[in-house]
Amino acid sequence: MGHQEKLSAVIFDIQGFSVHDGPGCRTLIFMKGCPLRCSWCSNPEGQLPYPEPLYNREKCLYDFDCMKICTYQAIEPNETSLVIRQELCKDCVGHRCVENCYSRALQIVGTRITLDNLFTKIQRDRPFWGSGGGITLTGGEPFAQHEFTHRFLEKCYDSHIHTAIETCGLVPWNHIEPSLKFLDWIFFDLKHANSIMHHLETGAGNELIFENAFKIAQRFNGRLIFRLPLIPGYNDSEEVITGIASFINKTGRNEINILPLHHLGSEKHILSGKEDYRWKSRPVPDSDSLSKVKGWFEGFGVKCWVGSETPF
Ligand code: SF4
Ligand code: SF4
Repeated sequence: MGHQEKLSAVIFDIQGFSVHDGPGCRTLIFMKGCPLRCSWCSNPEGQLPYPEPLYNREKCLYDFDCMKICTYQAIEPNETSLVIRQELCKDCVGHRCVENCYSRALQIVGTRITLDNLFTKIQRDRPFWGSGGGITLTGGEPFAQHEFTHRFLEKCYDSHIHTAIETCGLVPWNHIEPSLKFLDWIFFDLKHANSIMHHLETGAGNELIFENAFKIAQRFNGRLIFRLPLIPGYNDSEEVITGIASFINKTGRNEINILPLHHLGSEKHILSGKEDYRWKSRPVPDSDSLSKVKGWFEGFGVKCWVGSETPF
């Protein structure tokens, strides 16, 4: 068996028929593992790099079978229900806690898949892509599994499949660079122009992210679209938008897609045992504030697409 056939990745979803993450009709592949911990994350189940049990306390029978079967003591009771201590979970063979949970309160998110199996799977969508569509790697952070990402993109490129990626950019440059020649589009997420503020809500500063964004802008021949999750009270002020727009100007690129805060992932924060989702009481951005932000970007000559109202 060749190295390439053995190469595998941990993914947590594959979705066909997407029209929001690149041109045409696309198949999205959600890869697990992300170096950031954005407090508003809509896919918190994609943050850890390995398959993990999610716990739905509404379905729990409190028979504690899962606790008894876990030899790593990764499941313990708290005042009201159970907690999965993900740092102790060893992703055991067969995921015994899940197997022994008859009410399906526990479910595994994430699966290992080989390069060839993933490629075979996505090819089934090929008739739906038409001439303009293709695949988009998202997550989690696809470059966190850089060797797989690189090989997978190369295989798609060799098969004339249009390729896009969504990245948070917080990875070493040599994990990004080899994939550039196999990519058609890159969505590059920015969160805040100020590194301390960036750290506050994502768990990391923004220096490497901005450095990588700049390098991609200089060296990538395809279409680069920046993305900004718009979080009211955090990064929607004129000062922050001016900082981001000036940076985009410096890169020589001129497109951004703003993604207004939504609360669709809030339930998943609870299921994956992450900190409580703090944004629930925060109203999502209204049309006035969206047009204001759009206007600020356009004042810098940056084309600004709002939400899914994109030209692609
Ligand atoms: S096995 Fe399932 S139902 Fe029983 S205590 Fe564990 S999570 Fe709850
Ligand atoms: S997957 Fe295995 S190691 Fe992890 S919590 Fe369940 S039984 Fe324990």
